[in-house]
Amino acid sequence: MTTRRPTPTVDVAGVPVGGAHPVVVQSMTNTDTADADATAIQVARLAHAGSELVRVTVNNDAAAAAVPTLIAKLHDLGVGVPVIGDFHYNGHQLLVEHPAMAVALAKYRINPGNVGGKRRDENFATIVRVAVDNGKPVRIGVNWGSLDQALLTELMDANARLAEPADSRDVMVEAMVQSALRSAELAEATGLPHDRIILSAKVSRVRDLVDVYRSLAGRCDFPLHLGLTEAGMGMKGTVASTAGLAILLEEGIGDTIRVSLTPAPGGEREEEVRVAQQVLQSMGLRSFLPQVSACPGCGRTTSTFFQEMAERIQGHLRDRMPEWRERYPGVENLTVAVMGCVVNGPGESKHADIGISLPGTFEEPVAPVFVDGQLDRTLRGDGLVDEFVALLEAYVDRRYGTVGVSA
Ligand code: SF4
Repeated sequence: MTTRRPTPTVDVAGVPVGGAHPVVVQSMTNTDTADADATAIQVARLAHAGSELVRVTVNNDAAAAAVPTLIAKLHDLGVGVPVIGDFHYNGHQLLVEHPAMAVALAKYRINPGNVGGKRRDENFATIVRVAVDNGKPVRIGVNWGSLDQALLTELMDANARLAEPADSRDVMVEAMVQSALRSAELAEATGLPHDRIILSAKVSRVRDLVDVYRSLAGRCDFPLHLGLTEAGMGMKGTVASTAGLAILLEEGIGDTIRVSLTPAPGGEREEEVRVAQQVLQSMGLRSFLPQVSACPGCGRTTSTFFQEMAERIQGHLRDRMPEWRERYPGVENLTVAVMGCVVNGPGESKHADIGISLPGTFEEPVAPVFVDGQLDRTLRGDGLVDEFVALLEAYVDRRYGTVGVSA
């Protein structure tokens, strides 16, 4: 079992981040925050998908003014997810000029590379003072794309003077880490308690991410927000994010994660939440959704029936989870197997809580069902999928039901 790096716990409006608490899943909206209706709907959808914290852009007066309305709308919808404000360039002005927004937000995210040029430290301290006055935690979020150029130049110049200068990539990694640590130091010097600070230092390449976070984790005890920035679209973004997160999480580094996927046009923003959950569940760190084991299929099962059945079972589990979660505590640990033929089907099905082994191309057209490792029955014919779904429902009710109501 992975041992988590010890950190203080930061309370984000009731959601504990760090300490011995489970790694928190978070996400961010892509609506115009000034449109409180659209943003409230997207925050609610992200929360419904399982995002435990949701960040919104606060980039101008209209967005800042809309935040209290947005949070009131969420309250009316019965959505209590903490909402975090993301500030760049003018956060010091917006937080001072919109005190109701400063109160309504659960946490502020500050990018130390984007708080102003000459008055950088002053602006940064202004934001921190608002956080102190309102009892809010802060994430100091360094980003490679907006790294503090003065700091980077300072470190590059110092490196150039060395007899054996380090690689420029190593200097960039060091600049990311120092930007986060120096900002945290300034925040504490301004009065922000140690246990109200979370750090992040996001880059867009997996190797850089691993090096930055290993260094950061070794030099402070603040909880860390992990994520690959600008991860990209679809499979590329999913795989790159998973690769980076998995290495660090396995080393006990990371207290909250975000998967920054670029949605396909018309695609669902919630996909980033589902990927983050799946990363944590695949690594055995948390459980969110019953898991389906399905074989990849091969020449022994040439029809699409098996793929369609696996997809239907996966969809059924996802659709039923909102109700099951309330009604059947622990159901997120359920394992289901849908297998294509006799080679690995019975074996894999026996390892699942409930599994079915479909007949391969030249096998007898019967499908044995295994429950808790034992052969329970065999199914056959056109109604096979419906029958298996009914068996699955009955199993969930029997095993996880607390009131014994038949599903
Ligand atoms: S279980 Fe059967 S169908 Fe599935 S991959 Fe293995 S041999 Fe192929």
